[in-house]
Amino acid sequence: MKHTYCTNCRKETTYTLKKQGIRKVIKDKEYTFLITVAVCNECGEEISLPGLLDLNIKEIDSQYREKENLITIENINRLLKIYDIGKGPLALVLGFGEVTIKRYLDGQVPSLEYSNIMKKALFSPDYFYKKLQENKNKITPASYKKSQEAVNNLQELFVLSDKMRQVIAYLFKELNEVTPLMLQKLLYLIQGTSYALYDHPIFIEHSQAWVHGPVYP
Ligand SMILES: [Zn+2]
Repeated sequence: MKHTYCTNCRKETTYTLKKQGIRKVIKDKEYTFLITVAVCNECGEEISLPGLLDLNIKEIDSQYREKENLITIENINRLLKIYDIGKGPLALVLGFGEVTIKRYLDGQVPSLEYSNIMKKALFSPDYFYKKLQENKNKITPASYKKSQEAVNNLQELFVLSDKMRQVIAYLFKELNEVTPLMLQKLLYLIQGTSYALYDHPIFIEHSQAWVHGPVYP
């Protein structure tokens, strides 16, 4: 049992953490967010716990981004890491103002347009590479060289098409465990379903007929 001081009971009591829906209006749109509250087990009143407010601010931020399909701060940090690039240079390479990425990391919510550019860069090393070439003159030669090497390494790792990579990322997200064999079967079924429903493949890779069934090498 967790104890804390309840200002209503005026003594140490135990409390229970509960999820509570709250409504908020952001940019003229109403949203319901789930936050965590601590409730006193004796009087039933809400208790303020240290750290809970910060946690809920983060929760609301990430739920808002999810509802609006906006990139998370975590994924913006990933961009810096996988492309071995600083905040300023990344902003310039993507065609933003130099301090934009820094502001996003400090919590400013990006527009949908800029968010989509960052998401695309995260999903596709090819897209990032194109942007890097486009804007190479805006960053220092050292930054350019470092990031270019990181992209090249990634491109070697990811010989898959962007579409197949997205399908695999989705499967990993939805399923707890995916064995290599299961992944092969699922990709084959997904490709088949795409042909059946839309008359065209979802990804460009072709499967090969192996002894144990179709395989994407
Ligand atoms: Zn109480």
